[in-house]
Amino acid sequence: MSLPTISLESLVSTKSFDQLLATAKSAGCASSSCGSSAKPDEMDSAVWEKIKDHPCYSEEAHHYFARMHVAVAPACNIQCNYCNRKYDCANESRPGVVSEKLTPDQARRKVIAVANEVPQFSVLGIAGPGDACYDWKKTKATFERVATEISDIKLCISTNGLALPDRVAELADMNVDHVTITINMVDPEIGAKIYPWIFYNHRRHTGIDAARILHERQMLGLEMLTARGILTKINSVMIPGVNGEHLIEVNKWVKERGAFLHNVMPLISDPAHGTHFGLTGQRGPTALELKTLQDRLEGGVKLMRHCRQCRADAVGLLGEDRGQEFTIDQISDDITYDASKRNAYREVVARERGDHVAAKSQAVETVKATGSGKSLHIAVATKGGGRINEHFGHSKEFQVYEVSHRGISFIGHRKVEQYCLGGRGADATLEGVIAALKGIDIVLCAKIGDCPKDQLAEAGIRAMDVYGYDYIETAISALYAAEFGSEPLAATA
Ligand code: SF4
Ligand code: SF4
Repeated sequence: MSLPTISLESLVSTKSFDQLLATAKSAGCASSSCGSSAKPDEMDSAVWEKIKDHPCYSEEAHHYFARMHVAVAPACNIQCNYCNRKYDCANESRPGVVSEKLTPDQARRKVIAVANEVPQFSVLGIAGPGDACYDWKKTKATFERVATEISDIKLCISTNGLALPDRVAELADMNVDHVTITINMVDPEIGAKIYPWIFYNHRRHTGIDAARILHERQMLGLEMLTARGILTKINSVMIPGVNGEHLIEVNKWVKERGAFLHNVMPLISDPAHGTHFGLTGQRGPTALELKTLQDRLEGGVKLMRHCRQCRADAVGLLGEDRGQEFTIDQISDDITYDASKRNAYREVVARERGDHVAAKSQAVETVKATGSGKSLHIAVATKGGGRINEHFGHSKEFQVYEVSHRGISFIGHRKVEQYCLGGRGADATLEGVIAALKGIDIVLCAKIGDCPKDQLAEAGIRAMDVYGYDYIETAISALYAAEFGSEPLAATA
C-alpha cells in the first residue's frame, strides 16, 4: 500500500537548491496523480490560491507549510480577563513570556534568517504580544520591510478588532490577505464579563459600554475586510459558563458577515499566569466540552480544528517551535535572503500534494465501502508531509483522526512530553503520554519499542508501526478496512 516516498525530511535538511532538486528527482514520482492539484473541487480558485500555502487556513497545508510570528507589537488597547501583559497575547498564543520583543528591522533580519533555513516557511504573522492594529506603526514597518525582500511571503495579522476599521485600507494596500479577529461575544452583557475596559477615542470605557463599542468595531472591521476580499479567521476563546453556548450565536453573526474560518479555542486559565480568570478560579473547557461545541458548530462557518495556540514568537510547522534557533543575537546584521531552499521545497511539495490528495480520496472510498457503523479514534505520530514518520518516543504531539463510514477527519491534537531522550524512555513521562492519549483506540507511529507498546496495551490503546512512512489516511483506511471490512487484522503489529 505504500506510495513512493519523497522524503521531505531529506529536503529540509539538505542545504543547496541543486541538492534539493537532485533529492526530489531521485525520489521519483510513480503516481498517475503526479502534478495534479490539491485544490478541493468545491473551492473557488482565487480562494485556493490564498490558502494553499497557509498552515492555519488549510488543514491540508499545515502538513507542509510553516509560519512564524514576530513579536513587534507589544501595546494593546483593551484588557481581556484571560490575559496578563507579562505573557503572550492569548489571542494567538499559549501563555509564556515572549523571548524577545523586536524592532521592525530586527524582525526583518529574523524573517530572512528563517526563510534561508526553514524551507517550509510561507507565512509571516504578527500576533502581538499586544495588538497588531493598535501598535500599527511597528506592524506596518515590519510588513513593508519584509515584503520588499521576500515578495512571495504571505502576511497575516491577529487583532482584537477595536482599531481594525482604521487599518483595513492599508492592510489591503499591503496585500495582507489573512486577518484573524478575536471575537468572544456579540452580546455586550456577556462582553462585560470578559473585557473590564477598552481604550478608544482617547479615553477609557468600562462595562457594557466598552463591550458594545468593541462589538460594533469588530463587526464593522469584519464587514470591511469581507468587502475587500480579505480572508478572515475568527478566534473565539471558549469560557465555560460565560460564553460557551453563546459562541453558537457568534458563529451565526460572523457567518452572515463573510468570515472564512472559525477557530474555537479553550480558555487557558492557570492561576500561575496571574490573569483575572486564572486568579478567580474560572475554569477552561474540558476536551470533551470543546469538541461537543465544535461539533454543534458544524454547518456554520467552516471550523479550524488544528490550531495549536502558538506563542507570539513561534517559528516552524504548527506543533513545533524552533524559535530558540533564531534569537536575534545569532543573526548577522547584514544577512541577505537566499530563496533557493524555499523554491526547491515548493517544487517537490507541489508534486507530493497531488499524490497525497489522490491517496486521501482513495482512502475515503475504502472506508465508505466497508459500510461499517463503527468509529475509531486514531492518534498519529508525524513530523509533517502528511505521513506517519515520527517515532512514538520522539513525539511531542499526536494528531488525532476520527474514522467512520462517513470518512476520515482530523479532529485535533494531543500535546505530550517527549518520552524518549538520548535513547532512553522515562516511565513517569510515559504515564503522562498514556494519560494524554485517553480515549484513543490506536496509535500509529514510524517506530515503537516493546515496552511502551505493552504499557499502552494495558491502558487499552493499541500501538502499531507497520504503517510507518505511509500517508496517514492510507494507513487509517487500511486499518479500518481490516478491522471492520472483510479482511481481519492481527491485534497488534
Ligand atoms: S487583545 Fe491580546 S494583548 Fe490585548 S488584552 Fe486581549 S489577549 Fe491581551
Ligand atoms: S495560534 Fe492557531 S491560528 Fe495562530 S499561528 Fe498558531 S495554529 Fe495558526
